[in-house]
This record gives sequence, structure tokens and C-alpha cells, in this order.
Amino acid sequence: MSESHFASGSLEAKGIHLSFGSNHVLRGIDLRVEKGRTASVIGPSGSGKSTLLRVMNRLIEPDEGDILLDGNSVLRENPDELRRRIGMVFQQFNLFPHKTVVENVSFALRKLRKLPKDQARSEALAQLDLVGLKHKADARPGNLSGGQQQRVAIARALAMKPEVMFFDEATSALDPELVKGVLALMADLAKGGMTMVVVTHEMGFSRNVSDTVTFMDRGVVVETGAPEQVFDSPRTDRLQRFLSDVL
Ligand code: ADP
Ligand code: MG
Repeated sequence: MSESHFASGSLEAKGIHLSFGSNHVLRGIDLRVEKGRTASVIGPSGSGKSTLLRVMNRLIEPDEGDILLDGNSVLRENPDELRRRIGMVFQQFNLFPHKTVVENVSFALRKLRKLPKDQARSEALAQLDLVGLKHKADARPGNLSGGQQQRVAIARALAMKPEVMFFDEATSALDPELVKGVLALMADLAKGGMTMVVVTHEMGFSRNVSDTVTFMDRGVVVETGAPEQVFDSPRTDRLQRFLSDVL
């Protein structure tokens, strides 16, 4: 039979186990996101969400389990190859403070995509335009608000033309009034068909934007499903307790 039996363009973690020393942090995690969909991951601090993202883009190798892109295992490939295909946005924006905004975005285009200077700059400006910050191209990150800095970090990731975007609590370090703009940009990306895995404390985003919600606690997936099911009809005490704490 043909490959068409299997949905393609998906990213999947299967049976992932990982320990840091005697700390068994991921205990058989399955997570799958279909092409063009957004999977959100929620759960208490320390449950292994960030570690899972790091395993899924191979910053850390799992002790057991597999990572599949388009249905094919990527664990035997060069990890740099997968990381180029996955854009990552963190809670701390990690911009270079001494470079301008446009240099922050064009840097990886020159280093990794090996674009000539002029082309890197014009692609970077186009990405900045998409996140509404072209007018800040020649500013330093320190002169931008946290929300603007995070949008630069998103532009920097998008400039690499990733197939999948990971967000790890991208709005957690922002002042409350700046959260909205970043979430709106993430929602636009999701609606535009980007494949995304979003670790978030923003339950509104998780419910309204993501296609699936996965609740993790202590290294296991406790529940996963459509947003209505996870938020309106939690099946476990653990998820009910978590939701009543955060909502
Ligand atoms: P979350 O993102 O859900 O808050 P993390 O994935 O950051 O959870 O952490 C899960 C567990 O793994 C925690 O117990 C944390 O202390 C541990 N951990 C995370 N990263 C490391 C590391 N690099 N070395 C040792 N332990 C780690
Ligand atoms: Mg985390």
C-alpha cells in the first residue's frame, strides 16, 4: 500500500523517556501535531513541558522513544538538520543586545542559510514587516518593549522558513498589557497554517486557538484532546484540579 495511508507533514513524539540522573522527567510521552495544526501543551511547572520540546527538536536525545517528521524517524539524522526545520521561541527572547533589530533577524540568515548581506537584510526586513516592526529595524533590542522584543524573536525564527514552530511560554516574561499583541501574532500564524507546538499558561489561547490540548503532569500525558473536551469535560481529578487552580 502507498504512503498515503499515513498522514504526512506531521511531527510526532512517541514513547519518549528521559531521565536527568535519577530524575525520570519524561515517562513515556506521546505527542503528535498534524501539518498546519497547533498543539498546545499545558501543565504545572516542573512537569516536563520544556524538556519535551527540547527532545522534540533534539537539543536533548531521549533515552527511549522516537521522533517522527512526516512519519519518518529523525533520530538517526544530523540533529542540526531537524533544528533548522523547527523554529523555537523562548520565554526569554535571547536577542543580541549589541546588534540592531534587523541584524538580529538577518544574522542566522547569513550564518546558516549563507545568504549574502543585502539579501539577508531584505528578507529580514520583510519578516519584520510581517510582525509589524519594520520601523524598528535599526533600533537596539533594549529600546523596544518586551512584547516588541518577543515579536523580533518570532520574526527571527520565521526568517529561517521553519516547517514547525515551537513556543515555550513565549508570553510568560511579558508585562500583562504586552501579552495580547504576542498572542495575536501567534494566533495569526496558526490561522495562516503554520504547524505549531505551544507550551503555554494562557488558557484562552489554548482553548481558542489550538486544535489539540495536551495536559502533562509529572512527566506523563494525563489527558489530550480537543479544547472543548479538555477544558469543559476533564476526565481526571488531576486535570480538574489544575484547571480550577489556573482558571
Ligand atoms: P516544565 O517546563 O514543565 O516546567 P521542565 O521540563 O523544565 O518542566 O523540567 C522538568 C524536570 O526536569 C524538573 O524536575 C527539572 O528540574 C528537570 N530538569 C530540566 N532540565 C534539566 C537539566 N538540564 N538538568 C537536570 N534536570 C533538569
Ligand atoms: Mg518550562
